[in-house]
Amino acid sequence: MQTLDLTHELLADQFNRPITYLRVSVTDKCNLRCIYCMPEAGLPWLPKVDVLSYEEITVLARAAASAGVRSVRISGGEPLIRRDIANLVANLRAIPEIEDISLSTNGLLLAEQAEALRAAGLDRVNVSLDTLREERFFEIARRPGLDRVLAGIDAASEAGISPVKVNCVVMRGRNDDELMDFARLTMQREVYVRFIEVMPVHENLGMQRDAYISADEMLERLHEVGDLQPAAGPAGNGPARYFAFPDARGAVGVISPLSHDYCERCNRVRLTADGRLRLCLFGNQQLDLRTPLRRGASESEIVGLLRSAMSIKPERHHLKLGEAASRMRALSEIGG
Ligand code: SAM
Ligand code: SF4
Repeated sequence: MQTLDLTHELLADQFNRPITYLRVSVTDKCNLRCIYCMPEAGLPWLPKVDVLSYEEITVLARAAASAGVRSVRISGGEPLIRRDIANLVANLRAIPEIEDISLSTNGLLLAEQAEALRAAGLDRVNVSLDTLREERFFEIARRPGLDRVLAGIDAASEAGISPVKVNCVVMRGRNDDELMDFARLTMQREVYVRFIEVMPVHENLGMQRDAYISADEMLERLHEVGDLQPAAGPAGNGPARYFAFPDARGAVGVISPLSHDYCERCNRVRLTADGRLRLCLFGNQQLDLRTPLRRGASESEIVGLLRSAMSIKPERHHLKLGEAASRMRALSEIGG
């Protein structure tokens, strides 16, 4: 009897949203402790043995690609603290169906790795940066390093990684007076600054409630000081809405997961560092892929598992201002 080859049927969830985007967390660890993301003392880190190897990630990415995934974003934790991350980029680049490889980083280690990442095939990078002032950088990230992040942004552009996007989580009373300074960066350089609404998670709940500023308020405040016009974003512009000042080389964007969620257009799933497929940023729906993978599941069996997971992808998140996300580690998807 002929076996049915399901690998050419593309992934789509029960709401007919095609799934084309995979975010891969390569580590849960980080060299910063941003106040909105991680407690000062860190988290109960995963045992090393539980973390997927690059080979394992590559097998899963290949299966996902054969089922329709076209973009892969490498994230964390902080992905650049994992050794030889360029090797993973090269593995992903060798998968023919994958058209777009991007990285989310805090930028601290980007300057020394930008060339190797580009050479391995990295297309795009998002650098998180919430302030342009050193003393504030320390207050927000609880570690020093502004100079290194800025050097990382420059090095990425010089290495030909394009576009470079800067993700800035805007918090009332902490960095909201810098909106215009960030916007000015887009006039001088071809960078895309995306302002992100601070999201609630267990550790930041008190702070988040006080610090939250909606994307609409951010835009209003920018409009007050300059002539912003709706603009096309860079390739792979995901959930951001973009605006530009006349003659600016880059643009500013807002990402508003709370005030205007983009669930309707959601095309993504996420792989955690320990091999769970998570179906929604703020939901608990997940499927363990590591166990079958380590038991020797074939690529078509993995594709079958990915397909079965489509039935548990929820229609939307139900997160509201002032409520905690159900899980702290849901965070590593924001800003993609
Ligand atoms: N360490 C890398 C970085 O900072 O870019 C990658 C992982 S980080 C969790 C991914 C993105 O999530 C960053 O842009 C970060 O600013 C954003 N993020 C983390 N916690 C957030 C929160 N509570 N609200 C909004 N964005 C958040
Ligand atoms: Fe680390 Fe990124 Fe979280 Fe900041 S936002 S603590 S850099 S993982």
